[in-house]
Amino acid sequence: PATASALASTATDYPTTHEQIQQPIDTQNFLDNKFVASNATQWIDLHDPATNNLVTRVPQSTDEELKAAVASAEKAFPAWKATSLLHRQQIMFKFVHLIREHWDRLAASITLEQGKTFADAKGDVLRGLQVAETACGITTQLTGEVLEVAKDMETRSYKEPLGVVAAICPFNFPAMIPLWVIPTATITGNTVVVKPSERDPGAMMILCELAEKAGFPPGVINVVHGAAKTVDFMIDEPAIKAISFVGSNKAGEYIFTRGSANGKRVQANLGAKNHAAVLPDCNRNATINAIAGAAFGAAGQRCMALSTVVFVGDTKSWVDDIADRAKALNVNGGFEKDAELGPVISPQAKERIESMIGSAEKEGATIVLDGRGFKPEKYPNGNFVGPTIITNVTKDMTCYKEEIFGPVLVCLSVDTLEEAVDLINANEYGNGVAIFTNSGSTAARFQRDIEAGQVGINVPIPVPLPMFSFTGNKKSVAGGGASTFYGKPGLAFFTQTKTVTSLWRSEDAIATKAESVMPTMR
Ligand code: NAD
Repeated sequence: PATASALASTATDYPTTHEQIQQPIDTQNFLDNKFVASNATQWIDLHDPATNNLVTRVPQSTDEELKAAVASAEKAFPAWKATSLLHRQQIMFKFVHLIREHWDRLAASITLEQGKTFADAKGDVLRGLQVAETACGITTQLTGEVLEVAKDMETRSYKEPLGVVAAICPFNFPAMIPLWVIPTATITGNTVVVKPSERDPGAMMILCELAEKAGFPPGVINVVHGAAKTVDFMIDEPAIKAISFVGSNKAGEYIFTRGSANGKRVQANLGAKNHAAVLPDCNRNATINAIAGAAFGAAGQRCMALSTVVFVGDTKSWVDDIADRAKALNVNGGFEKDAELGPVISPQAKERIESMIGSAEKEGATIVLDGRGFKPEKYPNGNFVGPTIITNVTKDMTCYKEEIFGPVLVCLSVDTLEEAVDLINANEYGNGVAIFTNSGSTAARFQRDIEAGQVGINVPIPVPLPMFSFTGNKKSVAGGGASTFYGKPGLAFFTQTKTVTSLWRSEDAIATKAESVMPTMR
């Protein structure tokens, strides 16, 4: 059978339609800069979410393969750490250039395996690419501090790499999330073992090929596959010093607890329930468009999807307009021209989302727009759910309490801004939030009082660019969000600070008697 590296060998060799006949090939591990076939006995079938045709089989990497990946990263670390920052920067420049050159190919892999539209998949790549581009500025970001703390004595600080670090990734951003980690971790001198989502590892495999071409030495970036078993290996393996996890609360809270107990650094971004507060004084048309786009784009499978709207005062009557915009969205296979949202990841996800809509109905909510059972003409076998809007929702309903992660907008209404803030703050998640208003003072009050980590003011999906950090809050991050992805906190996560205090004093100034008290630094 063809190999992943063979498939990934030319820039033009990538799918542009769902119908294109692909010979299903097995996904390989990436070790020492080589694609290596797995000896797995367990395989995970990966289907195109638009057709449910088999795309590839993903191995549950064997214990030997997992150990070999860590050993390779461990072996590569001392030499990689010893390379100059400027050398690593040059490799990052090349990596950035190659990602840009292979942008369409990466996006096509995402559309085929994850389902999102090709245009949206290009955005997925871009948001990761921007982290790599920002990492190229490492030479000004990694400077330490120095101070003369006493006569002839100074203290300097250095940021040193940790060693082997690991990334465990979710299915919804197959390029962006690995790239939240790889550039920052490697440019600071660490070596990385990545476990992409077993549901869509293709983009990461292309990134491996590009990393090798960019000049990353063997072992600096290794990839292993699998599900919980691979994760358990990573959290228990002593050589792995830090774990970056993005995904659900169920997996993330477990990984954070067990990884931390094993003495590792763990950063974990988790689930969400992002609210939009709609104030009567906002720009009505822009707000309706923004909400429909942010609720249903990517079929709602973004951790920053705007899944819950809180209408303040009379704005609750705007729901019909949002429904009209939602109905006009083209739900289709991701390669189809003009497709605006694609399928959800799996038949199980479709079933779960549809049963969540059913639970809302049973619990007394009103389904204003029902996407259950939706089938685009060309893709009757895909995992499609049409845009769905649920009104008359109360705080105790399952559809409000749980993350739906599908194209479903849940609507609540209140009379005042204070009630909106109280309602949003009472929710256990705190990833993103948005307010739509034309009043600067209303926005200022909201911004101050709201407890979510990422606030949009007339911006529906306020994901910070990589010069800032991704700052979730509350149950949307493990460990209280002490360590966040990319930006300055990302650099801090992947480095150990070392302080060196030195005294260089001329011979004749050295006292003849030993000092036995703590220095007072006068
Ligand atoms: P997931 O938790 O099912 O999977 C994430 C990773 O964890 C995968 O690599 C998977 O193999 C592994 N995993 C799954 N179950 C495990 C278990 N029981 N033990 C050990 N490892 C396990 O998440 P997903 O469905 O791939 O992604 C969707 C979730 O990710 C949503 O909840 C979404 O909100 C969240 N997410 C959060 C952010 C953020 O920045 N806050 C970004 C993207 C996605």
